[in-house]
Amino acid sequence: MENKTNKDWMKVLDPEQFMIMREEGTERAGSSDLNSEKKRGFYYCAGCESKLFSSDMKYDSGSGWPSFFKSYPNVFETKTDHLLGYARTEYHCAHCDGHHGHIFDDGPEPTGKRYCNNGKALKFKEEK
Ligand SMILES: [Zn+2]
Repeated sequence: MENKTNKDWMKVLDPEQFMIMREEGTERAGSSDLNSEKKRGFYYCAGCESKLFSSDMKYDSGSGWPSFFKSYPNVFETKTDHLLGYARTEYHCAHCDGHHGHIFDDGPEPTGKRYCNNGKALKFKEEK
C-alpha cells in the first residue's frame, strides 16, 4: 500500500482523476476514449501503474464506461458502498487504494461479472 497524502496525489492525478480515484467519484458516461478502445494491450492503474486488465478481458457493455468481465488476480479489493442509497460493490486498487468503479452481476460468461471502470482511472498501453 502506498502512503501518499491527498496533496501528493494532486501532483500525480489531474482534478478529474483525483475526484474519481480519491473521492470515489464517477466520470460522465461515454466520456472516456477507452470505451471504444479495441486494440490489443493492457490496462494499468492511473495512480500506481499496476497492471489490472488485458484487452482480452474487455467487452462492450453499452453502459458508457469501459467494462471488463474479469481482472488479473488480487489486483483489487472490494467494499460495499451505499452512495446511491443501495448496496453496490465498489472496487479499488489493492496497491494504491485508488477507486476504479463498481462490480455488477450482469456480465457475460464465463464470470457473469461486469467491472464497470472509470476510463480516467486507467492507462492503456497498446501491445505492439
Ligand atoms: Zn493503483
